[in-house]
Amino acid sequence: MKKQYDFVVVGSGLYGAVFAQQMKEAGQSVLVLESRKHIGGNCYSEDHEDTGINVHRYGTHIFHTNDQRTWDYINRFTEFNHYRHGVLTTYQKRVYTMPINLGTINSFYNTSLVPSEVDAFLSSKKGTIQRPKNLEEQAIKLVGEDLYRAFIRGYTLKQWQRDPKELPASIITRLPVRNSYDASYFSDRYQGIPLHGYTPIFERMLDGVDIELGVDFFDDVEHWRSRAGHLVYTGPIDRYFKFQHGKLNWRSVRFETELLDEADFQGTSVMNYADEDIPYTRIHEPQHLHPERRQSTQPGTVVMREYSYNNEKAPYYPVNSPEDKERFALYQALARKDEGVTFGGRLAEYKYYDMHQVIASALARVRALNRQ
Ligand SMILES: Cc1cc2nc3c(=O)[nH]c(=O)nc-3n(C[C@H](O)[C@H](O)[C@H](O)COP(=O)(O)OP(=O)(O)OC[C@H]3O[C@@H](n4cnc5c(N)ncnc54)[C@H](O)[C@@H]3O)c2cc1C
Repeated sequence: MKKQYDFVVVGSGLYGAVFAQQMKEAGQSVLVLESRKHIGGNCYSEDHEDTGINVHRYGTHIFHTNDQRTWDYINRFTEFNHYRHGVLTTYQKRVYTMPINLGTINSFYNTSLVPSEVDAFLSSKKGTIQRPKNLEEQAIKLVGEDLYRAFIRGYTLKQWQRDPKELPASIITRLPVRNSYDASYFSDRYQGIPLHGYTPIFERMLDGVDIELGVDFFDDVEHWRSRAGHLVYTGPIDRYFKFQHGKLNWRSVRFETELLDEADFQGTSVMNYADEDIPYTRIHEPQHLHPERRQSTQPGTVVMREYSYNNEKAPYYPVNSPEDKERFALYQALARKDEGVTFGGRLAEYKYYDMHQVIASALARVRALNRQ
């Protein structure tokens, strides 16, 4: 006899894990299917075997939220350190703070402006573009030609692999420019990195839940559906509906990870590279995410060079072009008709979600189902 479950959850990322944890806690039986060899989705982290440095395999993840309910929930499964994120960018061999703040402007222009002078100074640099026709014009309208050429043009070109003149203005609606020296990347009340990385959170959430790793739901859809009272699907929505309205576009990233025989490579967790002729967009150095750990005892440091590229098999960021939006609306209409299935998370909702938003969304869905 095949075991029947109240819920079969496709995907052990944050959405699937929160959903499974909540239903298990409510006394329901849950099976989680995961096509990868590990749980945790893109939040997955592991200790590097030589150095013990905790590495976020799919890119640096910083937890941040203002939502008390989400913060209380995640703290049931981990303690956080007091890491505060800051980003630096290298341009023509000089290092600047990002997002653009008073320090960036003063270093770049070799000035000593005070906050009240910034707006007038930047206005004098912005030119006369009224109706920007593309991303380049939009960025120049917002920060002026010099800052655009230094910090936005090369980085955007590498990220999108297209000239900013060919990209729609709508990609950037605003560019935060701070008139102060505030260099904090997030302003949320609660921020940090889980003391032991992200994977133990998932192990605790999924404790007592049946899990099948290395299993792709699409290899036997009928079988898995027949075992589920209710199906929770967190994979790509277009794949679920056999791409009948065409493929949704995603931007992808890949990482080149290297162990270096030095104590500290760049002195910070994330360094952007704005120059066009440097092929990577960022270098991550994960040891800096854990200032509470003693760094001097480690025999080396791990760095991850990040490259943007096109790979529909590794969907990271939704492109959200007008055609994508139309296509997604068609898939959403199909999803609404598919009773007995919840579509949740970044891949099924075709949405750039931060972790706190995925948690809030899964908790809300569980509450709604429990009310039915
Ligand atoms: C580079 C990068 C950096 C990020 N940094 C941050 C950050 O600093 N802070 C922050 O808050 N958020 C960050 N995020 C966002 C964060 O990763 C997501 O919010 C979160 O991982 C989404 O969880 P999810 O469950 O929706 O999706 P996922 O983590 O993608 O989980 C979906 C799971 O479903 C599985 N799956 C898919 N299809 C199938 C199938 N057919 N059968 C079986 N299994 C399947 C996948 O293998 C995957 O494990 C970042 C994202 C990226 C890409």
